[in-house]
Amino acid sequence: MFGVYFHIPFCRKACSYCNFHFSTNLNGTGKMAEAISKEIGLTNLPEKGMKTLYFGGGTPSLLQKEELGLIFSSLRSKTEFSELEEVTLECNPEDINVHSIEYWKNLGITRLSIGLQSLNESELRAMNRAHNDAQSFECLDLLGQFGYFNISVDLIYGTPWKSNSQWEEELDFIIGHKAISHISAYALTVESKTQLNHQINKGEIPPIDDDRTVSQFNILQEKIHQNNWEAYEISNYCKPNHRAKHNSQYWKFRPYFGFGPAAHSFDGKTTRYLNIANNTLYIQSIQKEELPREYEELSLTDSLNERIMTGLRTCEGIRTVDLENFKPGWEKRNIRALNRYIKSGDLVQLNHGYQLTHSGKLISDRIISDLMEID
Ligand code: SF4
Repeated sequence: MFGVYFHIPFCRKACSYCNFHFSTNLNGTGKMAEAISKEIGLTNLPEKGMKTLYFGGGTPSLLQKEELGLIFSSLRSKTEFSELEEVTLECNPEDINVHSIEYWKNLGITRLSIGLQSLNESELRAMNRAHNDAQSFECLDLLGQFGYFNISVDLIYGTPWKSNSQWEEELDFIIGHKAISHISAYALTVESKTQLNHQINKGEIPPIDDDRTVSQFNILQEKIHQNNWEAYEISNYCKPNHRAKHNSQYWKFRPYFGFGPAAHSFDGKTTRYLNIANNTLYIQSIQKEELPREYEELSLTDSLNERIMTGLRTCEGIRTVDLENFKPGWEKRNIRALNRYIKSGDLVQLNHGYQLTHSGKLISDRIISDLMEID
């Protein structure tokens, strides 16, 4: 059982907060699709067992039909599609129209993850998004009419431009929309080397207000709870039975194969590899039939720490037995920190392990780092 991920490293505009790997020079999409297809050919993929397929980026929805088709056919020639349970395409509102919807459906896409980020026009402009609010509403209406796909939307909260009441209105609209069954909601973070960081340093934009972020996180939890949605991961929320299968595989440490520049892969055991995060070098290397990958062998401590990091973010929490398998004595060594967070109400002990509470989610980074170990 494995997943496949494609990183499509192109975007129409650079969003001010984004530090992902992408280029805004769209002339290279054809060459990139060819290189990715070739990378598939050069990779030792199992012939069966592919459960999920995910096109991320960047903005995969801006690929031309034939480019997306080429990647699909290359993958089909290497592995069976018969066990596929979910095929996700990340897309931006400006790419969604009757033609793309039909094409994606015929190609076998089952789920769209739409980068809405906000429903407010001035906030979209402040973040330098390529779409406007009208396009967001139109594409959701259109997708509702067709009803072909499971729809997830990405939202950002805790920005300097979003008031609590705007956030409430956005959530009411999104949760109430018949076409939408999943939300990925992220608190705005300021990454170095982004336009946002530059603007804050120059005083053009106020720094992130942590209190506002906490208020908006609380509003999100409340709305999710009131509407009987599931908060199954710190940033991921869904109607019952609509969890993202591909991302859930990551959190269960199942194997996945990543293709394209900056894509990660994992063998499900101890080996990860990362493709070079440079479009030109990636293409040149693949043209020479050399895979531009950097390998990393995980130590037992790395594997333990990864399980703490991902497990505590999910509603299942961490399983003590899993952690003890990697590093016997983990619970005993960390009992003081565990008890401290249980006493402060940030962690609860379950039969099988530990889980963050609502207040614990607000300080999850601190708790996770306190429970991780070093070699
Ligand atoms: S569209 Fe997505 S990947 Fe591209 S710059 Fe914006 S946030 Fe980043």
